[in-house]
Formats: sequence, structure tokens, C-alpha cells
Amino acid sequence: MTKFEIKQEVVKIAKKADEMELCRHKSGNFSMIDRKEGLIYITPSGISREDLTPEKIIVVDLDGNIVEGTLHPSIETSMHITAYKIKPEARGVAHTHSRYSTIFACMGKEILPVSAEAILYGGKPVKVAEFAPPGSKELARTIIEPMKDSDVCLLKYHGVIAVGEDLEKALIKLIYVEEVAFLYYHMLTLGQKEFMPLEIFNAMLNG
Ligand SMILES: [Zn+2]
Repeated sequence: MTKFEIKQEVVKIAKKADEMELCRHKSGNFSMIDRKEGLIYITPSGISREDLTPEKIIVVDLDGNIVEGTLHPSIETSMHITAYKIKPEARGVAHTHSRYSTIFACMGKEILPVSAEAILYGGKPVKVAEFAPPGSKELARTIIEPMKDSDVCLLKYHGVIAVGEDLEKALIKLIYVEEVAFLYYHMLTLGQKEFMPLEIFNAMLNG
């Protein structure tokens, strides 16, 4: 992929997430990494999705220094950098404020794998990172523990983050986390107390 194609892909996925109502207006941020060059292509801060163009994508190095671009990089750039450092196989990071996922993030309650669709993001309960203010260095650190054995985690009182082999795969994980959060929310609302037994889920996972 050329530099411009990477920027186009970041814009395409950011707009797709918006169209799917996983994030709105300026919220959420998206990035891809070129591991060979050690460069991250990330959405800018404060630009609404409809105004986003490939020229507005910011290129930063792994220390967060701006290499290319005139706008400010996303305020969550350090969280993306941390995600790439703790997940060496990741090539894309997506962060949204998907509604049902964020309900659980705000409640500080992990999302159980209540349906087969949870397999599409690894099948583990989606853990909640400890609270830290959006945009802070502490927030970047909070994702380390819950993402140790998972590609997704909830950010307390805030939203959800996923890594993927590319940015589209990271977004797909967020789509399925949201789907399972939607199901789990409604099951809880209906008074359900028991959920899919782990052995059935593990059999599907390995089957
Ligand atoms: Zn956010």
C-alpha cells in the first residue's frame, strides 16, 4: 500500500464506522501502522467525519511525534501507540463510543459472550479498563491489562477499542462487540440470569 492508499483506507473505515452509527460527528478515532517504517496513520482531532479526507490524516512516529500533517493528531494517539506496542501483530486500531458497548463501559460491567457471534472477536468476556480521562497518558496504560488476552476492551465511562490484522478487521470486531452487547443488554433487561454455558461456547470456539 502506498502512503496515500493507507490514508484512504483510514478515511474509508472511519466513515464506515460513522455510517454504522458506532460513533458520531467527531467522536472515535482510527489508525493504521506501517511497521516497516514505524509510522502510524491516524485520524485528526476535532474534524467531523464528513469533512475527513486522506489529506487530513496525520502521520506520527511511535513516540507520537508528527511526521506529516498540519492538523493535530487524535487526542487518543498515545492509546493507539500503546495498542500497537502490546499487540505486535496488529496493523489497525479502532476506537468508538458504540452505544450498547458504552452502556457496559459506563456500568463497569464486562460483556459476556452470550451468543455465537462473540467468536468473531475471540470469544472472551470483554473486560473493562480502569477509568482514566480521555486523551490522557494514563488512559493509554489502562488498556494493557484487559487486552493481555483479548483484542478488544471497554474503556470505563467512555467507549470501546479493538485491534486487528488490519483496520477493517479491527472495525469488524467492534461491530460484533456491539452486537453481543445489544443482545446481552436486552437479556439482562428481560431478567435473564443464566447465559450460554462456557463449555458450549468453548466447543463452538474449537469446533
Ligand atoms: Zn473516545
